Amino acid sequence: MIEDSFGRVHDYLRISLTDNCNFRCFYCMPEEDYDFTPASRLMQPDEILAVAEIFVAQGVKKIRLTGGEPLVRKDAPLIISELGKLPVELVITTNGTRIAEMLPVLISAGIKTVNVSLDTLQREKFLLITRRDAFEQVRENINLLLQNHISVKINMVVMKGLNDNEIKDFISWTKGLAIEIRFIEFMPFTGNKWTSNKMFSLEEILSVIQQDFAVFPAKGNPNDTAKHFTIPSHKGSFAIISTMTAPFCSTCNRMRLTADGKLKNCLFSEQETDLLTALRNKQPILPLIQASIWSKKKELGGQLNKQFDQINVQDIHNRSMITIGG
Ligand code: SAM
Ligand code: SF4
Repeated sequence: MIEDSFGRVHDYLRISLTDNCNFRCFYCMPEEDYDFTPASRLMQPDEILAVAEIFVAQGVKKIRLTGGEPLVRKDAPLIISELGKLPVELVITTNGTRIAEMLPVLISAGIKTVNVSLDTLQREKFLLITRRDAFEQVRENINLLLQNHISVKINMVVMKGLNDNEIKDFISWTKGLAIEIRFIEFMPFTGNKWTSNKMFSLEEILSVIQQDFAVFPAKGNPNDTAKHFTIPSHKGSFAIISTMTAPFCSTCNRMRLTADGKLKNCLFSEQETDLLTALRNKQPILPLIQASIWSKKKELGGQLNKQFDQINVQDIHNRSMITIGG
């Protein structure tokens, strides 16, 4: 069992397969030109599997693959197939562009839920946010997942003045389709263009939806980061991830492994533990994992002020989201 000093048991590992991506979402990538990590410095498939097995032996029940865009990695099919053999729930977060070609691998690895990021239902705005013209492709791939009986959760980062006017459109989408929309509060990371006035809060999201829809809270799981809601007569549902205005740190069970093999005990932690170098030097990594999680701070990596209007993104000591693995 992997536990921190506040008694939180950690049984959920998020593995970033790469910091490379075929999109350029401004809220995720650093502003300046960014060099992706060379392949030799990324964890190799056998290394990912070896590290994952150690976590699973310590009680990890769920592994999420993320990135960067996990499905742009050439050996992603091999990694997914190998991890699919472990006794865990395997899930993935993707921008949705590579679903069609990866579908057989996802199915045979036993992946039953896919989180697809989609911040707008408008083609032009999609291009503006991602700098790639792939809106139709992503929409088609979402349908493809559903046709293949894979649950779909849509991640939508809500940004004031950019896509907050589409919240109701996303809700309307759930009327006839059994998907979950996950509205995510915009978070600050090194190099992104976060300012507090671009944030659209849990409260604001809910009040927009309640103008037109009858909303009921739904029961979630104990470690959920999302607050779940239903609307009677809608096949789908929605959730809000309120990291900024109502964080869920007290029940956190998450650990993050970056593509270059560093363990982060919190999305906002400055501290990282280099598991890959230790593994390559044939040193035991379990004590490193245990020490890292034991030193986890109580809330928000110990560095984000809960009064978000006082946060200056320049003062945050962290990586950019694309290099952490969201
Ligand atoms: N490429 C994949 C994708 O886009 O789904 C996986 C990696 S991406 C970093 C994972 C999630 O983080 C996405 O849903 C993305 O929208 C979210 N994300 C990235 N930057 C964010 C930010 N600044 N605030 C909130 N969510 C963010
Ligand atoms: Fe790429 Fe996902 Fe980041 Fe967009 S959010 S740049 S798709 S990693």
